Amino acid sequence: MCLTNSQRIKILNQSNCRCFYCGKPIERKFEIDHFNPFSKSRDGTVDNLVASCIPCNKTKSDLSIDDFRAIVEKAKGEPIIFFFEYYGIVKKGGSCVYMNTLNEQMF
Ligand SMILES: [Zn+2]
Repeated sequence: MCLTNSQRIKILNQSNCRCFYCGKPIERKFEIDHFNPFSKSRDGTVDNLVASCIPCNKTKSDLSIDDFRAIVEKAKGEPIIFFFEYYGIVKKGGSCVYMNTLNEQMF
């Protein structure tokens, strides 16, 4: 995956400079993750790319979102809601739609 800096920044901005999954603010290091694992989906388009903190990306690896959720819920011992779900972030056509108002209070 070869992205320019401006593409990386655009992807980061789509989740309001937060990890797409856990919602932690990203200050310096982050990784670009294939939302649908590339090994299974072969989808390398920008619509499938999200900004992830390093711990989330490491845990998610090439898991589907449902398998990733199962691991996080097991570790936390309770149901979780991902950042992108809370805000209803939908990526389409290289840009992003927010179904809910971005509200920084929950994360
Ligand atoms: Zn994270």
